[in-house]
Amino acid sequence: MTTQELIAASAKYLANTYARFPIVLVRGKGIHLWDSDGKEYLDFVGGIAVDALGHCHPRMVEAIRAQAETLIHVSNLYHIEPQIRLAQLLCEHSFADRAFFCNSGAEANEAAIKLARKYAKDHWSTDRVEIITMQHAFHGRTLATVTATGNPKYTHGFEPLMPGFKQVPYNDLRAVERAIDSRTCAILVEPVQGEGGVNVPRDDYLPGLRRLADEAGVLLILDEVQTGMGRTGKLFAYEHWGVEPDILTLAKALAGGVPMGAMLAREAVAASFVPGTHASTFGGTPFVSAIALAVVRTMLEEDIPGHAARVGKYFLGRLNALKGAHPVVKTVRGLGLILGMEVTVPARAIVAACMERGLLLLTAGDNVVRFVPPLVVTETEVNRAVEIVEAALKGVAA
Ligand SMILES: *Cc1c(COP(=O)(O)O)cnc(C)c1O
Repeated sequence: MTTQELIAASAKYLANTYARFPIVLVRGKGIHLWDSDGKEYLDFVGGIAVDALGHCHPRMVEAIRAQAETLIHVSNLYHIEPQIRLAQLLCEHSFADRAFFCNSGAEANEAAIKLARKYAKDHWSTDRVEIITMQHAFHGRTLATVTATGNPKYTHGFEPLMPGFKQVPYNDLRAVERAIDSRTCAILVEPVQGEGGVNVPRDDYLPGLRRLADEAGVLLILDEVQTGMGRTGKLFAYEHWGVEPDILTLAKALAGGVPMGAMLAREAVAASFVPGTHASTFGGTPFVSAIALAVVRTMLEEDIPGHAARVGKYFLGRLNALKGAHPVVKTVRGLGLILGMEVTVPARAIVAACMERGLLLLTAGDNVVRFVPPLVVTETEVNRAVEIVEAALKGVAA
């Protein structure tokens, strides 16, 4: 099929849930992608903060090949060696004592919401069911997680929504303090908001949430689906602020592009899940666990989070310089390699202009251009991307 035929078939046969750009990507290597017409792109989307090691990283390819020849799927009726090793590795490098594996960010958050409710019932009372979430959050698209997300753009038409969520402004400790009452069982927050505009909180926010949670005796759940696995320059974003959650969720980069989610929890909380309380057919298969194990080992052995911190700092400096030179750029913000550029024009116009010039970017809300490249990106590649962004800014302003 030609590119035009493929795009026509896409419009005809697929559920119409995405506003897709009119290209078909067929091949990738490192941070480079090629479309069906042979055009090359610099990939600063990375599958939306998923392809942390870039495309077709040799250690991932080798893990996929080796595991495909060994064992792909059995069931959680049995012990699964790569799953056990992955859980151990994640626990040894985090606050957590136990891991539950699933297949996506929304599912990881579903597990966290269920665990928080179950823990509250086991320890407190049956009416402590409410979870406080933040405006401009993103937690997924299932009914519970879309309710937690709370954005009318995503919830409209799907009512009745899930009861048990209360939303307050992000980065506002007083609002959380006022919202906590005898019905609260947990606070759910992204350490840095991704989809909601790359919002980095004040330095006292996470420590403040931890303190409020402790004082009220409620759980702190961190959604690190986007910020986890090195994205912010630490393996987990919470490390920046020296606080630990009770529950943490992961997905996106965890298996480097193969679908996997995880919920990590400390022992006392995890203990509320016992055989029969929660499950997933595909959670932590031998195949996906072996790939995630290769990804996480590579990240640790090659200090990918440290690399992301260094290149991210350089990148932020380059974007800040653009801000001075181009009035279209309002603010620049971010942490590690999750960066946002707030613009005075529709962000999608800049993303489209960059795509034209061979750079893939995405938006975060209507007015923020988001940069979440593979964490292995180099300063040279950042320079090339910034050149293209600058050309696009000139084009949009003209
Ligand atoms: C992407 C994302 C999710 C949802 O993940 P899916 O795998 O699409 O379900 C949840 N939370 C955050 C912070 C995300 O960035």
